Amino acid sequence: MQERIVPVLIVGGGPVGLALAGDLGWRGIDCVLIEQTDGSIYQPRMDLVGIRTMEFCRRWGLVSAVESSPYPRDYAQDNIYLTSLTGYELGREHFPGIGQAAPPPQSPQRRERCPQNMFDPILREFAASQKSVTMRYRTRLVSFTQDSDAVTAEVENAETGARERIPARYIVGCDGARSLTRETLGITMRGNPALTYTTNVIFRCPHLLSLHDKGKAYRHIFIGPEGTWSTIVAINGRDQWRFSLIGSSTQREYTIDEIKAAIRRAVGRDFDFEILSVLPWVRRELVAETYRSGRGFIAGDAAHAMSPTGGFGMNTGIGDAVDLSWKLAATLEGWGGDSLLDSYTSERQPVGARNVAEASGNLRRMLSVGAHPDIADDTPQGAATRAKVGREFTEMMRREWFTLGIHLGYRYENSPICWPDGSEAPPDEARSYAPTARPGHRAPHAWLRDGRSTLDLFGRGFTLLGFDATAAAAAPLLEAARARGLPLDFVPLAEPEIAALYQRKFALVRPDGHVAWRDDRTPDDPLRLIDVVRGAVSRPGNVAWRGEPNAAKIA
Ligand SMILES: Cc1cc2nc3c(=O)[nH]c(=O)nc-3n(C[C@H](O)[C@H](O)[C@H](O)COP(=O)(O)OP(=O)(O)OC[C@H]3O[C@@H](n4cnc5c(N)ncnc54)[C@H](O)[C@@H]3O)c2cc1C
Repeated sequence: MQERIVPVLIVGGGPVGLALAGDLGWRGIDCVLIEQTDGSIYQPRMDLVGIRTMEFCRRWGLVSAVESSPYPRDYAQDNIYLTSLTGYELGREHFPGIGQAAPPPQSPQRRERCPQNMFDPILREFAASQKSVTMRYRTRLVSFTQDSDAVTAEVENAETGARERIPARYIVGCDGARSLTRETLGITMRGNPALTYTTNVIFRCPHLLSLHDKGKAYRHIFIGPEGTWSTIVAINGRDQWRFSLIGSSTQREYTIDEIKAAIRRAVGRDFDFEILSVLPWVRRELVAETYRSGRGFIAGDAAHAMSPTGGFGMNTGIGDAVDLSWKLAATLEGWGGDSLLDSYTSERQPVGARNVAEASGNLRRMLSVGAHPDIADDTPQGAATRAKVGREFTEMMRREWFTLGIHLGYRYENSPICWPDGSEAPPDEARSYAPTARPGHRAPHAWLRDGRSTLDLFGRGFTLLGFDATAAAAAPLLEAARARGLPLDFVPLAEPEIAALYQRKFALVRPDGHVAWRDDRTPDDPLRLIDVVRGAVSRPGNVAWRGEPNAAKIA
């Protein structure tokens, strides 16, 4: 009997592997996810679910699960800069509780606070509920090989030690910063492998708020005479806190007594607390030189390792998963062209590099305060120093707290599968995002008269928006898509404000919600356009193209 070949083998059941499995399953694609642990989270890392990730959660039907996670929605999300919790406050950025914040006009969603120990289970349940997804916990990738037809993975059961082979069409390493998949594929990382050696400590103290007068806040950044030295984050809005000793580029280990003393220094007094876990880790600034080698791909932390300052790591990784998922589906279903999968690197690697750089910039800004020996002195000079540092730091840190541009403004400039329309690229700014339907960008959100978002129209296949356009006018493109087996829905809209936002009569939106093409009329050669967006032929002016024209390969 012939061995069953798994279409996609996903290595790693962190948030990115779970999102990829869920999205592939949502598309009806068979995949197997292996995870070496049982999935328990001992020390939650991420807690900011960005606005774009929430838009994907909207498509997956997960918004209410995130909104009803146990993180208290009225817990103030302030960021405070201070000498200690019982010491001087230098500055503060006020944010209401997540439940009290309205979505910005550019999105139907808002960013959420949902720590990893709450968010991973939501993604896990989503993935596990898909019929075509098989989840195998306590199963470790040991090694794999690939040839032109398939990948053969050797995996080990963590309980029994039994090994087995899993043959697969494709393997995707979502196996984190120390990715074995990446190593086996021979992909190198570029950048700085050690920005800081940091120590994170989760401690429990239900009465911490009663020990000081600063009130509820999400993040506290402590600035001492030596400069910025530590942070405390409200990890569950109740009794658990994450203390982070930022450290430096020199490796240093701390004893439990040193850690306890540092926590008491940050709080500014003696108090009782329980240390739940200690995690020394290395803050990196790395991006993989490519996200693909043959039948192997990497996504998430396996592809980019960045400072958590900004909360971009997982959110960038989930963007990778969404970009890769529809391309794998298209290829497996036969309507994706030979070069479609290569476009994963061309589109996502620059986004990874951009977000890694922004995260490092946030770290540098946070650490740029420098030494101020008198900052905690109860003297007029100390007060003057605090006022100056507080003013400058508060202004500088805004770039980290307001990041709509990072989350919504990334674009696939020069993508081989987007057809440029000659319009000028808007500036790529971290703080602000101006909606645009320019090819390569996220198709903008607008509320439809029936109460849906435009984003609700996109997802499973391509969508052709036609503003005051008839099906007859769209027919050449619909016919070309049919000829190639590319799933395309025509959605006529008679909504002038949305037409003004999209700026053209037609906009072709990809399954990941990015605009592939727009124009006031269908192209003279509609087959050529369809072949470009499915990665089968080169678009005009794309010198880096490697693929050759190919016909549809419907399985
Ligand atoms: C303190 C801190 C705070 C952060 N806050 C945020 C935030 O607010 N927002 C945000 O977006 N990001 C944040 N991040 C970053 C975020 O946590 C990571 O980017 C994210 O967890 C990466 O997800 P991943 O699935 O790619 O990798 P991981 O979460 O590292 O998951 C990889 C998985 O692969 C498994 N695995 C590894 N090797 C194998 C193998 N051989 N076989 C089988 N399984 C294997 C591992 O067990 C693991 O479960 C933060 C990071 C830190 C350190």
